[in-house]
Amino acid sequence: MVRKLLVGILVVLLVLLGISLFGFLSHKPEEEVNEPELTEVEPEVEIVEPTESPEVIEEIPEPEPEPTIDPSVFTDTDSLLVVANKKHKLPDGYVPADLVQPDIAATAYCTMREPAAVAIAEMASAAAEEGVYLKISSAYRGEDYQRSLYNGYSASYGSETADTISSRPGYSDHQTGLAADFVEGDGSLNGINFNQSFEDTASGNWLREHAHEYGFIMRYPKGKQDITGYAYEPWHFRYVGVDYATAIYEEDVFMTFEEYFGVEGGDYAE
Ligand SMILES: [Zn+2]
Repeated sequence: MVRKLLVGILVVLLVLLGISLFGFLSHKPEEEVNEPELTEVEPEVEIVEPTESPEVIEEIPEPEPEPTIDPSVFTDTDSLLVVANKKHKLPDGYVPADLVQPDIAATAYCTMREPAAVAIAEMASAAAEEGVYLKISSAYRGEDYQRSLYNGYSASYGSETADTISSRPGYSDHQTGLAADFVEGDGSLNGINFNQSFEDTASGNWLREHAHEYGFIMRYPKGKQDITGYAYEPWHFRYVGVDYATAIYEEDVFMTFEEYFGVEGGDYAE
């Protein structure tokens, strides 16, 4: 009897085990359905990562471009940055093609390249509004005129002295048509004009502080003879355009063209 009872209990247990096993197996497919959903989430995260890293790579080359000036602008006579100094001679017989008479008071007939002529007239009227009456005595000078000027100084003082006060033909900033000499009053050689004391005149003071606003720089600043090749000329201004003139002025009012652009200057090679 006891054995029959035990066998009966065992059968019942086996049946219960069978039922629970069936239940376990029949539930498992439901869990398996959920699993693919979880594995689908993982690839989404992986897809986001690769799209982020190319963006970072694209951002790296952006700061690379640096503004550089093509050095040909210093020898190209059409350029507003063409250089004439004791190391840079203009092409033989060079005459600017766009010379016009600027609308500014002058002690003699003067011409300048058109962009400089427009700017100098604008500058003169702006200065006049502040009670400063700008006047020029010389702007563009042709090679032949520069030759007679230089030869005259050379005959009077010797070539060594002539080189310190006048350019040899072909080397003059005036031949670019972008430079002008300012004078006070009637422009006579009275100790102010073509003299370093010009810096203390109304015109000298105004030009030093405002010329850059109209695209002009002081071409031969104080204490820079070794770099420009000329002693301080507070009356001689050169057009380079408003952007460069302002950049140079903001560096230093006595910053030279040669220093700012890294152009060779100083004395004649021979
Ligand atoms: Zn001059």
